[in-house]
Amino acid sequence: MKQNFAIIGLGRFGGSICRALIESGQEVLAIDSNEDRVNEYMNIATHAVLANAQDENVLRSLGVKNMDHAIVAIGEDIQASILVTLMLKELGVPYITAKAQNEYHGKVLEKIGADRVVHPERDMGKRIAHNLVSKNVLDY
Ligand code: ATP
Repeated sequence: MKQNFAIIGLGRFGGSICRALIESGQEVLAIDSNEDRVNEYMNIATHAVLANAQDENVLRSLGVKNMDHAIVAIGEDIQASILVTLMLKELGVPYITAKAQNEYHGKVLEKIGADRVVHPERDMGKRIAHNLVSKNVLDY
């Protein structure tokens, strides 16, 4: 079934989610405050918008509250990531996935109501380690 996603932040993480969702036929509203990033996704996302997601009026006017799912893919600016997650929650977005930069950031995101908190580097490191070990077991 087709769902509507909002992605805030088009770095490597948000950008690859955007591409994968579009490839699987979903609708994606992509928001970034960096013009180059928005231009890069103009012809990829369903809509790509140049805006500061920390501005609640921006989120309201883009109709983010009507999305099925929002992904907060801002990493470095932890304050922005927390504020945007909180505003999405208050707007009533049904499911919010947020990327954490570190364990403390992840805890705060969980506390303020992110439905799923992901730690991409940490989790990928674990997966690769498991994969290496299970490969060794299979090879043996
Ligand atoms: P990645 O690790 O995914 O490659 P990155 O290191 O390139 O990310 P981050 O600082 O994590 O960069 O930010 C990801 C994206 O979020 C950037 O493209 C940045 O412009 C965007 N971004 C940061 N703050 C905001 C904001 N307040 N509103 C909209 N976009 C933002």
